[in-house]
Amino acid sequence: MLADKDRMFTNLYGLHDWGLKGAMARGAWDGTKEILARGHEDVIEEVKASGLRGRGGAGFPTGLKWSFMPKESDGRPNYLVINADESEPGTCKDREIMRHDPHLLIEGALIASFAMRAHACYIYIRGEFIRERERLQAAIDQAYEANLIGKGNKNGWDFDLYLHHGAGAYICGEETALLESLEGKKGMPRLKPPFPANVGLYGAPTTVNNVESIAAVPDIMRRGAAWFAGLGKPNNTGTKLFAISGHVNEPCVVEEEMGIPLRELIDRHCGGVRGGWDNLLAVIPGGSSVPCLPADQCNDLDMDFDTLKDLQTGLGTAAVIVMDKSTDIVRAIARISYFYKHESCGQCTPCREGTGWMWRVLERMAEGKAEKREIDMLFDVSKQVEGHTICALGDAAAWPVQGLIRNFRHVIEERIDQYAAKPIPASVPVAAE
Ligand code: SF4
Repeated sequence: MLADKDRMFTNLYGLHDWGLKGAMARGAWDGTKEILARGHEDVIEEVKASGLRGRGGAGFPTGLKWSFMPKESDGRPNYLVINADESEPGTCKDREIMRHDPHLLIEGALIASFAMRAHACYIYIRGEFIRERERLQAAIDQAYEANLIGKGNKNGWDFDLYLHHGAGAYICGEETALLESLEGKKGMPRLKPPFPANVGLYGAPTTVNNVESIAAVPDIMRRGAAWFAGLGKPNNTGTKLFAISGHVNEPCVVEEEMGIPLRELIDRHCGGVRGGWDNLLAVIPGGSSVPCLPADQCNDLDMDFDTLKDLQTGLGTAAVIVMDKSTDIVRAIARISYFYKHESCGQCTPCREGTGWMWRVLERMAEGKAEKREIDMLFDVSKQVEGHTICALGDAAAWPVQGLIRNFRHVIEERIDQYAAKPIPASVPVAAE
């Protein structure tokens, strides 16, 4: 279990003052100027050495991503963009940072921007997060007033921070759709290459990072890479915010060490699975887009990027959705499928057509109104969607379907058998021979 002294998010539950005074009392903005005085490369190297991997879902090494940004300007500015769109169903961790400890994010934005030689940073916040936007803006205003950010600030790096409110589309959480939206266009993902580090916001070099990744940076710089790397497991270092929802007694967001066993996470922080551990049916370990795992794979499951990848699923955003045995797993995945169909931007055919096709088949399967041969066909179609689209929404739509078929094929088959065995209602006239 994570020791209190190793927590970075010490006001996760909003029990203390979110404002500048409270944040400073908890250690924020302490020695920021000295951190910047170490130089751009030194900050990047420290973050690299910490092993921090992106907390938005993909788990790409943050320091390495920063190192792709140009060191010499060709006349264009560099930008940092922070993805606060947090729209993956089950995910509600960045929200807690923004409303309860916003100065961690603001200080992190300054340090990260400095590392990448950016003088401006944009935070793109989810449309539905209205109170969070107000709180974050108030904190940004405090930071300006205290001369911590802005032109000629006391930390020694000119820096402007802009908060942009999205309109509520899931796809705007995809980094290039986010950039399009920020530029005032429709939120549609761009074809890559070019990657944002070369051509990003307004055609300039840009890095897009998740809120939690950026909010972790001040602590990494203050306490040192070795401290962060000493937590968790090799290649899966540090602490992580887990958001546990569904059929647990006390759903919560909690900061824990990377690699904590799932059972410990649920029993210690969530009061256990509803009806006890043996009542567990399945878990979606990283937000709705990752494949579910059946209960028998959850007993000794470490919650980290590599372990979950080896099990053909993912840590994603660490939004753990727990389903007990009362769950109709086929209907649950059909509902998730509907979400991705609804959120597809429609640019590429496999996603536009495939998401709707998969959803319609799953709706029939949830009723049992399908043929068993369609199960393999559905799996095949999901494979034709996965990896064949402009952005990862195609994968996000395909993976839950694949997880269902890999782990719960027998449930679909039983449903089909039950439907076939139902007597034909008497009111239905039987055709004469
Ligand atoms: Fe749009 Fe889907 Fe293609 Fe992504 S995969 S660009 S959401 S159609």
